[in-house]
Amino acid sequence: MMGVRYISTRGQVEPLTFTQAVMMGLATDGGLLLPDAIPQVTPDHLRQWATLPFAELAVQVIRPFADAEDLPDVVLREICQRAFACFAHPEVTPLVQAGGRRILELFHGPTLAFKDVALQFLGNLFEYILSRDGGALNILGATSGDTGSAAIHGVRGRSGIHIFILHPHQRVSPIQERQMTSVLDDNVHNIAIRGSFDDGQQIVKDLFNDLPFRQRYQLGAINSINWARILAQTAYYFFAWGRLSAGHPDRRVSFAVPTGNFGDIFAGYLAQRMGLPIERLILATNRNDILTRFFQSGCYGSAEVKPTVSPSMDIQRASNFERYLYYLLDEDAQQVRQAMHDLEQSGQITVSAEKRQQAAQLFHAVAVSEEETLEQIRSFHQQSGYLLDPHTAVGVRAAFDYPDAICLATAHPAKFGDAVRQAIGHEPPLPPALQGMLDRPSRCTILAADTAQIKQHIVATLPPR
Ligand SMILES: *Cc1c(COP(=O)(O)O)cnc(C)c1O
Repeated sequence: MMGVRYISTRGQVEPLTFTQAVMMGLATDGGLLLPDAIPQVTPDHLRQWATLPFAELAVQVIRPFADAEDLPDVVLREICQRAFACFAHPEVTPLVQAGGRRILELFHGPTLAFKDVALQFLGNLFEYILSRDGGALNILGATSGDTGSAAIHGVRGRSGIHIFILHPHQRVSPIQERQMTSVLDDNVHNIAIRGSFDDGQQIVKDLFNDLPFRQRYQLGAINSINWARILAQTAYYFFAWGRLSAGHPDRRVSFAVPTGNFGDIFAGYLAQRMGLPIERLILATNRNDILTRFFQSGCYGSAEVKPTVSPSMDIQRASNFERYLYYLLDEDAQQVRQAMHDLEQSGQITVSAEKRQQAAQLFHAVAVSEEETLEQIRSFHQQSGYLLDPHTAVGVRAAFDYPDAICLATAHPAKFGDAVRQAIGHEPPLPPALQGMLDRPSRCTILAADTAQIKQHIVATLPPR
């Protein structure tokens, strides 16, 4: 019997098992991987899951996406237990009330951003797959701050894995820098490049395109296109719904999601397609508004990236958007290939008015300005004493017309002290996880923004092969 298989949005990859899809990351035909059918939940599931603790709920949500021979129950349970045990809050992702709003706090992981939910799960999953199948994995990535530290904390100390993270030298905040460089495990290699974040991304791209090097050194990526990251995030939509609805299957809920790469909000879309009663997904962008423009006009065309106070959303090419496009275009890989080709050639994709209307039934897209973001932090703090981080503030503001929506809080405000100071006149107090951070011993190699030098450094650092 064939179980769940993974296919590419561009239709040119042989069907894969779940663990094969996780190890492949980006599909070899340039597309993104998806299950060939979306598992469905029943009202009974919803009722039963509503009271489960987070880790067990994650097991239930993820279970139908992998065959038991590929990922046995005991293994999946162990991975989820370990991934979410390192969160500082007993509920993992608590749903709280503040300022008259519902806030889903996703920032209680080791690096205080929601990316921990996915990367703690992925780190444990990678370790299992490598121990089962043998081999090694060398993760290579560039970061402007958040993703790098969450990835490092997801794989630190794990056998079979090394991680190399490039960040722009002296261009990330001191706290973000120390969150990465104070991790002293032997398998963690921080590289500060004398250049920009874009230089770092280009170097990573060049090294992945160096196919002999990529294969010889088993390079892997950890960016938000990995399917396992989406799945782990889907779990907290079910969790929040359960806490709010007490398991009444006809209770519909809206979510406000601050969005950059369309990863987090795609997880919400997946939850809805699985049968979670979601009324609206409020897609919140900052002034880098390619996604908002798409949902408002049906035209997806990129523009220059502008810096904002919510820097983790300063993106004008949303890497997960192709997954949504696949469903919007009736799961027709041929059409997706054509659309991505158009994007490459002409810089834009346009869908029909009918498709745009269909998309607008679920998604309500709002772009939030810098002033509105800071004003939202200020007024919310004044009313309730609760501090929103600037990304969360974008989501709360976008949900202005949806007072009952659950607003996803994607980072702890102390990670973005600068923006908070601009809003309320002083920085937030540091939570225990960040206290003393700047005094911790650190390790980092500073190199020129030069692909050949970075490559040589990686070769010299890894055990000989
Ligand atoms: C990455 C990030 C986002 C955007 O998430 P996507 O999955 O890229 O849409 C929002 N807020 C914070 C704090 C982030 O780190």
